[in-house]
Amino acid sequence: MKKIAILTSGGDSQGMNSAIRAVVRTGLHHGHEMYGVRRGFKGLMNDDFFKMASRDVSDILYRGGTFLQSARSETFKTPEGQQVAVDNLKKRGIDYVVVIGGDGSYRGAQALIKHGIKTFGLPGTIDNDIPLTDYTIGFDTTLNVVTDAIGNLRDTMSSHERVSVIEAMGRHCGDIALQAGISSGVDAILIPEVPYNLNDIAAELKAGFDRGKSHSIVVVAEGAGNAEEVAKELKALSGLDTRATILGHIQRGGTPSAFDRVFTSRMGHRVIELIDEGIDGVALGMEKNEITYHTFDEIFAGENTINKKMYQVFMDLV
Ligand code: ATP
Repeated sequence: MKKIAILTSGGDSQGMNSAIRAVVRTGLHHGHEMYGVRRGFKGLMNDDFFKMASRDVSDILYRGGTFLQSARSETFKTPEGQQVAVDNLKKRGIDYVVVIGGDGSYRGAQALIKHGIKTFGLPGTIDNDIPLTDYTIGFDTTLNVVTDAIGNLRDTMSSHERVSVIEAMGRHCGDIALQAGISSGVDAILIPEVPYNLNDIAAELKAGFDRGKSHSIVVVAEGAGNAEEVAKELKALSGLDTRATILGHIQRGGTPSAFDRVFTSRMGHRVIELIDEGIDGVALGMEKNEITYHTFDEIFAGENTINKKMYQVFMDLV
């Protein structure tokens, strides 16, 4: 029997609950003792643990967000803060911690490893910006939310012969904008990974309206520009009526998609198998539909690039 704690950290994402449920239920089935930690690394330092039974994770599979709550903590970045967290784990005899979060949370996970805690990472972020996994938790749900939002905007833009400029999340990674753009058949996609020229885009939009189009849609990842400014500039360059919409936090909400539920159930289950196999200090993901794992050093050294083939698909379909 091992004692295993689980926490969620950084920005929440749809599917975190499903991942927690999978880790806890599989852990209990395999005879381990499971502990929830409230509010991420802050909870580790504040000694905010509770022992979990199977029923503690009932009714959460289909809920967005994280019932363990998430938080950010500057104190945990310091050796002193980390020592308090480690002392709290040690006094309970907890040797294993599962961290669900993004890149920053993975840095926190690695800090725990350096203190001798056997730690795992699950990629909990909607941005799809973690190397060595094809997907991150919540990305697929967010893609569906953004696709629905673009569809709603298309209806009204078409009635008024307007250009809609829609800002999606993604500071360094344009995957949400790119894939939502493909799934919505939009006219232009601006992402941080690919340089763009607003003069060219304005000319293409104008040509489209001259051919008789009733509306156009431009998706911009937040790391590639601000929707209000892009809309203003496109209006000045093309003379078309433009409207900006910043989707904001609605992108992080909603019931997790079937894909996210299955993906997180598989990863959560695999964490416990790895513990039973004596493997630790790794972050899990999915590559080519297999649940895989890598050391945190490998993840940090990995390059997070957009799928160039995917971008080509968009360019050839527009
Ligand atoms: P998101 O993708 O939503 O931004 P994230 O996990 O990257 O999620 P961060 O705010 O970067 O979010 O990190 C979450 C927490 O992880 C931080 O508040 C901090 O407690 C911990 N953390 C981040 N960087 C480090 C570090 N270098 N060392 C130790 N802990 C860290």
